[in-house]
Amino acid sequence: MTPIPSHLPIRPRERPSLFIRDGRIIDPASGRDEVGDLLVVEGLISQSTAAPTDSSVPVIDAQGLIVAPGLIDMHVHLREPGGGQKETIATGTRAAAAGGFTSILAMPNTTPPADGPNTIALMRQRALETACVNVYTTGCITVGMKGEQLAPIGSLVKAGVIAITDDGHCVQNNEVMRRALDYARMFDLLTLDHCQDYNLSAGGVMHEGYWSTVLGLPGWPRIAEDMIVARNILLSELTGARVHVQHLSSGDSVRLVREAKKRGVKISAEAMPHHLALTDAAIEGYNTNFKMNPPLRERADQEALLAGLADGTIEILASDHAPHASYEKEVEFADAPFGIVGLETELGIFAKVLIEERVLDWPQMLAKLTVNPARLLKIDRGTLAHGAAADITLIDPKGAWKVDAEKFHSLSRNTPFHGWDLPARATHTIVDGRVVWNLERGFAEA
Ligand SMILES: [Zn+2]
Repeated sequence: MTPIPSHLPIRPRERPSLFIRDGRIIDPASGRDEVGDLLVVEGLISQSTAAPTDSSVPVIDAQGLIVAPGLIDMHVHLREPGGGQKETIATGTRAAAAGGFTSILAMPNTTPPADGPNTIALMRQRALETACVNVYTTGCITVGMKGEQLAPIGSLVKAGVIAITDDGHCVQNNEVMRRALDYARMFDLLTLDHCQDYNLSAGGVMHEGYWSTVLGLPGWPRIAEDMIVARNILLSELTGARVHVQHLSSGDSVRLVREAKKRGVKISAEAMPHHLALTDAAIEGYNTNFKMNPPLRERADQEALLAGLADGTIEILASDHAPHASYEKEVEFADAPFGIVGLETELGIFAKVLIEERVLDWPQMLAKLTVNPARLLKIDRGTLAHGAAADITLIDPKGAWKVDAEKFHSLSRNTPFHGWDLPARATHTIVDGRVVWNLERGFAEA
């Protein structure tokens, strides 16, 4: 087995050349937004934009399309190892490619959890063999995600993780979290946190409010999130460590992050498509595809999230792609697992709720899916600068389509968006100059 250099993304093997003609080139990293051509030479963005003289170089006509840096989703559950009935690295990365994503960050709540270098090595090897987009790995904050004993953070970094998180779980012991952040700071490692106070959320299966009362389901109040967001802000200030609060759902959390950023705290935040597109009223039919963690909240929370995206408080958009097999979701609402798939619908949902509603324009929205996650994670992706790896996503901003869960490339179908009409979609997903997926022809041969 050849060791994989830990500073590199895991894929791909080839670095072909490619010419993309007449597209709207949007590179939020440089502020570039113009119609033009893009030349890729041996997997890298070329300084030249001259059409290649070599007729064997493929040409893509991108008229009417957006040419963006390859999209990055920094919140994905791939379920491998241990959850092959829900998703694998092979199927999860195919879902990513079909959604326009060239790089994804895998969460460590696999079975076993990625709390040591062995599991990371296994995931990286599987990605090398089966992934069709770049897979980056995270390690756990604590052993077994139990929140008690710190995971070997130094060894995890050596094994190649680019962030730590107990996502799916939340470290309740503030002293443990403080020590984790002290370590993370030594490695300048980003700590991602799933913000959930277990006592305040105990038993809750949906947002605590009007609808939980009407439906007779145990409520989960906003304060369960806000409390941990506030804790993380204070600990980041104390330790100087960079903390990223995952999947914000509460309007009050947005306010806390905004205020902390004004003080210069190294805090960042992300929003998910379902929290922007849906409210807890959607649970009226007890459909378990509307059950997620954190839960869908109210219109006021949605508005606060949208305002946070518009003013830059929330700099990241991601999916929290959380596949579950149908038999797991086809149970009583209270018993169903939390989470939905997202990779194949998120770009369309974001276009619907952010672009169509004029919350953000394309360059602003794409920044939250490219250069912002690349900078937070310190990876050399997310830009179309000369010499950069040619990870490119072509998007049809007028490519309306209807979501059909049966056509997903993910192994799982647990989406609340089945049957929705979405206004835009990716047409080509290009990793290191190689078209790994396109809308007309599907996937390139491995
Ligand atoms: Zn989570």
